[in-house]
Amino acid sequence: MERVKKNFGFGCMRLPMNGENVDTKEFSAMVDTFLEAGFNYFDTAHGYLEGKSELALKECLTSRHPRESYILTNKLSTPFFKSQEDIRPFFESQLQACGVDYFDFYLMHAQSAKRFENYKKCRAYETALELKKEGKIRHMGISFHDKAAVLEQILKEYPQIEVVQIQFNYVDYEDPVVEARKCYEICRKYKKPIIVMEPVRGGSLVNFRQEALDILEEDGSGSPASYAIRYAAGFEGMFMVLSGMSNMEQMNDNISFMKGFQPLTEKEMGAIQKVQGIFKSLNLIPCTGCEYCVAGCPKAIQIPSVFKCMNNQKIYQNWSVERYHEATKESKASDCIKCGKCEEACPQHLKIRDLLSAAAYKFEN
Ligand code: SF4
Ligand code: SF4
Repeated sequence: MERVKKNFGFGCMRLPMNGENVDTKEFSAMVDTFLEAGFNYFDTAHGYLEGKSELALKECLTSRHPRESYILTNKLSTPFFKSQEDIRPFFESQLQACGVDYFDFYLMHAQSAKRFENYKKCRAYETALELKKEGKIRHMGISFHDKAAVLEQILKEYPQIEVVQIQFNYVDYEDPVVEARKCYEICRKYKKPIIVMEPVRGGSLVNFRQEALDILEEDGSGSPASYAIRYAAGFEGMFMVLSGMSNMEQMNDNISFMKGFQPLTEKEMGAIQKVQGIFKSLNLIPCTGCEYCVAGCPKAIQIPSVFKCMNNQKIYQNWSVERYHEATKESKASDCIKCGKCEEACPQHLKIRDLLSAAAYKFEN
């Protein structure tokens, strides 16, 4: 962990795209800018952009910069192993895809009560610890999406866990589903350094209602992303805050306030409290746009796009239903056959079937 330079990391889930493929020219330029600004932490997973994130990291980061100049985190994700025997070949394929011979951090991905049982059954934690002994992993950790009580159980059973990645932002702080505050407190209790994911909640803390933007603008300390990321980074014990940057403009903005990081002042926290109140009153669907639900859907419904429409309708006063029809040209909410596969994959435990029925009623009638 000593090689980690700063508390701000590049989440490689939403990279700049050129059609179906990663825009490697733009991504290379972003990687260089990020390293030049003194940051060195990169986070990926095999499922990100259907394997293209790992390959883009090889092309734009690992084949262009010396190994000691960056920290690379990867994850063991549920869809890619069925038994213990599958884990090592999958892990080796990840090393190869990324073009490295070790990962600095390797996380058991999106742990929940149900997934944890499966990881234990497949001896995933034990296998990761063996890989650590062999020098192929420097640190073993978890990323987590469930209640705080489940997190405590996992940390008790595997005290070897070195870092915990949690969803943490100012809207989810007291959310009864995400339990961000409680998860944070468990990490502190067990003295685990914390990696923050979704500090801008899949972008919804950047593109939001004018009255909320007005509050931040009036306060005048920077972009909405600046408030969200500095909020998360300001809590004690936050080892790393990840930001999924998709273009150079976002990167330059993030670098501008994270290079000489300062936590939010009392006045800025006051502005955040007002924005928290607005979000609470909107009762938005807490979908982060991670797309874990999409791959297994037999009707290829773009579930996060549907939920984005539901939320945007509440966030933006001038939103029109045409946007729903544009976003769902291939498959609509009403095509859902209620098989439930998406709900098994959703780290936010959303009642996707019910929400799709509501969307169909609202937009297709
Ligand atoms: S329940 Fe509906 S949305 Fe979910 S996977 Fe099945 S068909 Fe797709
Ligand atoms: S519905 Fe759940 S799995 Fe699908 S994109 Fe939203 S948060 Fe992710």
